[in-house]
Amino acid sequence: MANGDRGGRGIGRDPAPMRAYVLGTSAATTAPGRDNASLLLDAGGRYILIDCPGSVAHKMAKLSLNPLELWCIFITHAHPEHIYGLPALVHLLRRKGRREPLPIYLPIGEEWRAVRILDAFSLLNRPGQFRIELRGLPGDGEPFIREGGLRAYCLRVEHKVATNGIRVEAGRPRRVFAYTGDTRPCKNAVALGRGADIFFHDSTYPDDRAEEARSQGHSTAGEAGEDAERAGARRLALFHIGSACFGREAQIRRQAAARFGGEVVIPKDLSILEA
Ligand SMILES: [Zn+2]
Ligand SMILES: [Zn+2]
Repeated sequence: MANGDRGGRGIGRDPAPMRAYVLGTSAATTAPGRDNASLLLDAGGRYILIDCPGSVAHKMAKLSLNPLELWCIFITHAHPEHIYGLPALVHLLRRKGRREPLPIYLPIGEEWRAVRILDAFSLLNRPGQFRIELRGLPGDGEPFIREGGLRAYCLRVEHKVATNGIRVEAGRPRRVFAYTGDTRPCKNAVALGRGADIFFHDSTYPDDRAEEARSQGHSTAGEAGEDAERAGARRLALFHIGSACFGREAQIRRQAAARFGGEVVIPKDLSILEA
């Protein structure tokens, strides 16, 4: 990944396959091997960070990725563990000499939270710093990125606060990546995952905690399997793993597989999945 080659990658040659770098996999409560959920999507050479808990740059370093390559940041929602790393990341990018504007997408109406958290550290467009472009997205399915063969869409899902799931399509033949964000099983989650090569779905609870999943605005592994089956996804990644699932990975995989005919995976932190 040459630095400074953010614009033309993929033009005139086959784009790289879509690749999801898994920076973290857990819900709010972390474990020694699972940090808060975050993904870095390489969509034909465009690096889209999805959610920003702590240590994003450190994890990118472990994966031999350069944080200066970040193209944009998509925040699914403003629960603390999905956004709290923003000031540290912006501070690091400033120190490393980023020049290009950095778009940060949030659910519409939630932009102020990013303003407050960045402004607390005087990191919002200070003189000489790269420009931060905060954009609120209604989650209406209109593409918010449309560039060459790359399209990114988001849809509003069903969580305790305004939350957008994301779907990214890129490459030839077309590859589809989708991530629900924190959500109950719902028709928009299914729409996001329609025919996806890889479908990351909230799987915060095991099936025996279905009542808690419902009250907390999350999904069980079995519910994730059901959405993936409805969507006709090729591969399901159980994601945003809650503490109730820790140590029960084989069991939740079976719960999802009981309702989904495709492949079920439970990614580890710092793993890489190709779409
Ligand atoms: Zn969460
Ligand atoms: Zn949440």
